[in-house]
Amino acid sequence: MFERLPIDLPEIEVITPQSGQSYRVRALVFANEHSFRSSIYSTTKTILDKLNHLIYNAIVSEKPSYEEFISTTTTIDRDSIIYGLYQVSYGDIYNIEKYQCTSCGKKEDLSVSMSSGFNLNKYEGKDPILGAEIPVQLNDRIKAIIVQPTCKIELDEIDNYVNENRDMIWRMHLDRFEYIADDDSEQVISKDKGIKFNIACNQLPSSMVKLITDAIYENFTKYQVECKINYECPHCGHKEELNFDFTQQFFRMVSRSGK
Ligand SMILES: [Zn+2]
Repeated sequence: MFERLPIDLPEIEVITPQSGQSYRVRALVFANEHSFRSSIYSTTKTILDKLNHLIYNAIVSEKPSYEEFISTTTTIDRDSIIYGLYQVSYGDIYNIEKYQCTSCGKKEDLSVSMSSGFNLNKYEGKDPILGAEIPVQLNDRIKAIIVQPTCKIELDEIDNYVNENRDMIWRMHLDRFEYIADDDSEQVISKDKGIKFNIACNQLPSSMVKLITDAIYENFTKYQVECKINYECPHCGHKEELNFDFTQQFFRMVSRSGK
């Protein structure tokens, strides 16, 4: 057995926006990145599972068991831990190669400080977001019940989605539909997740989808960490606000690191 090398890994404190937890996380080491990298070409479920373990193992302060951690950490809370892990492992600078101006189309390499545009919108309400069920009335007979997914719900649900693309993410927040039966019995039918649930989602008009996505934003996803930078194009002077997807950037850095 080798002895532990005298290397002190940097640590950073993170606060989760939805649950208000605080954790200390340490920088990733080569073995963490290597293990994660080997999963990049796996299924989404495997990648998420690896990601959750990666994050959990990087927490050095007091923490619950792994199972409890993924059951009580929302996907948005996980983003804030990823942001901290990114900062402590790779630093504050975010490089974008050949960013294309949306006005003149000219490309520019950007190098920006993420912390300068960082914002934590912390939930301060008294009823916890975790476990909250919010009804969204779609018409006089049907309502959708939305929840904020935890990492555990996400892992369980991901197999139910045929297309695991970003357009489907709002469905992850839908817990069920409740509606009054056609036969005037006033019976409330509950349509839970699964294939039939997906078919039900596909019947919704866009206006109802918007009611649902607006409610998801207002109740859940606006409490998040975000990174927005004001960009001014050096070619045409066009100004725009760039919203960094640091989770995507995190994946990119982990897959490149040590190479
Ligand atoms: Zn421009």
